[in-house]
Amino acid sequence: MSQNIPAPEADRPQGTDFLRARINQDNLTGRFGGRVHTRFPPEPNGYLHIGHAKSICINFGLAKEYGGLCNLRFDDTNPVKEDTEYVDSIQRDVQWLGFQWKGEVHYASDYFDQLYEYAEKLIMMGKAYVDELSADQIREYRGTLTKPGIPSPWRDRPAEESLDLFRRMKAGEFEDGKYVLRAKIDMASPNVIMRDPTIYRIRHASHHRTGDKWCIYPMYDFTHCLSDSIEGITHSICTLEFDNNRELYDWVLDTLGVYHSQQIEFARLQLTYTVLSKRKLIQLVKEGYVRGWDDPRMPTISGLRRRGYTPEAIRDFCSRIGIARAADALVHYSLLEFCCREHLNAVTPRCMAVLDPLKVIITDYPEDKVEEFEQPLHPEDASFGSRKVPFCREIYIDRDDFREDPPKKYFRLAPGAEVRLRYAYYITCTEVIKDAEGNIVELYCTHDPSSRGGSSPDGRKVKGTLHWVSARHAVPTEVRLYEQMFTTETDSDIEEGKTFLDYFNPESEKVITAMAEPYLATLPAGSHVQFERVGYFCADPDGTKDRPVFNRTVTLKDSWAKIEKKQ
Ligand code: ATP
Ligand code: MG
Repeated sequence: MSQNIPAPEADRPQGTDFLRARINQDNLTGRFGGRVHTRFPPEPNGYLHIGHAKSICINFGLAKEYGGLCNLRFDDTNPVKEDTEYVDSIQRDVQWLGFQWKGEVHYASDYFDQLYEYAEKLIMMGKAYVDELSADQIREYRGTLTKPGIPSPWRDRPAEESLDLFRRMKAGEFEDGKYVLRAKIDMASPNVIMRDPTIYRIRHASHHRTGDKWCIYPMYDFTHCLSDSIEGITHSICTLEFDNNRELYDWVLDTLGVYHSQQIEFARLQLTYTVLSKRKLIQLVKEGYVRGWDDPRMPTISGLRRRGYTPEAIRDFCSRIGIARAADALVHYSLLEFCCREHLNAVTPRCMAVLDPLKVIITDYPEDKVEEFEQPLHPEDASFGSRKVPFCREIYIDRDDFREDPPKKYFRLAPGAEVRLRYAYYITCTEVIKDAEGNIVELYCTHDPSSRGGSSPDGRKVKGTLHWVSARHAVPTEVRLYEQMFTTETDSDIEEGKTFLDYFNPESEKVITAMAEPYLATLPAGSHVQFERVGYFCADPDGTKDRPVFNRTVTLKDSWAKIEKKQ
């Protein structure tokens, strides 16, 4: 194993990252009375992905570590994009990752009444006004980093007039976009976000929870800080792109004089060869590039689960990548694969399956004889038990385990060479059978009956050990081999005029029919298993098939070590 693999959190000195340092500091000064109360606030407009897992591990992890609490809160202020399908999948995924929120699930929409009251209060304080500029005009008037904003002509509208209009907005008197409510802050602020941000807009749309009760909806910046405040959140941890929004977060809470949570930003996870933007993930699903949100290629939690990743592996990954405040953290996909192998190695039974079958006929083995070898399901852990593997005159080996013209130091099968069939016999290749085009179709071999069980009584050394499946008992099994979803490492490699979709890897899913030992056909959906010498696989929950289909989770080869060496 390479030395450069980052250690898991638990193995590092505590409080070394900036988040824990902040919390330790707050606990020292007694700012929140020693409380730690975080929240995970997804918008229910898509499925959770591995980037969210980082945020989940941070928020739930910190709460656990400090003996505090973590809420699950749906940030559901955009009725058009949100859906209960997403609400359900998010809860399932958080729990599957091994976390439990405090009490009931929270929804920002639970606070719509209270948020409305706060908005009226701001109007009466002269800190908010109803504007009539169009969305485009608002953008234009806002100015830029180098150009100060221009006040709206409605900025100094009397509070009573704004209040009246705001109430009529709520009552449904106006169409979408006719009016907005804006906070009255500072049109010359160097922080563009502070130039009178919109805090309410008209949207005649049904909401997945409040139905048609509302036709005005609060904006994210207004909702988020107040939801944190209402729930008594101590540390509101979000990603770096909200850095500039913190000033507004603080302004709203200070102006209203309510309980004040602390917003802290950390770097968003980026992973090579995939995308972690909900907009792009939705596109892959809607345009049929993948089998759905839970396609095993997707970096979604449900995709990773279906691929065969375990919660333990994902949590281990999140703890190894650490938390930084610096620019976005690009992490190589193979670190995730490394974490997966580490865990699966310990918890999966071993079986045999041949992905690219080549028939071997053992010419000196009786035609109708069948033997059963009792084989352990795990080489080091007897608690896995064993299963019986049938053996007969005809078997399959992987085509890749035979070379007619073997290079030096090739220890697998070749003409005249002897190999061990795992747990069965030593065999020697005596003849190569080809078809008219010269393709190898079968091998003839002889076996050494005294090597039964896979060991030779005369101490003869055989270097190669092959996996195999009895041809007469083999179960033809659909196996889906997965590769990276994209051929580019990151977005920055995308050429001008192209989009990320141009880099979708057409070979990212390859469906083959493998020959599996009978035991594999008995495994229930969701089972993890190692095909010996091949990789880790997971039985797919595809209900349309009458026997398991196996998704390749990850190969056995550790490519992380190689990448580390290259750097
Ligand atoms: P969108 O892609 O629609 O902007 P989002 O990625 O911000 O959405 P949310 O549902 O708002 O998704 O995210 C919930 C939480 O997960 C937020 O606190 C967000 O900061 C965090 N999060 C989202 N993506 C990542 C990521 N790649 N790395 C770390 N945290 C993330
Ligand atoms: Mg968001």
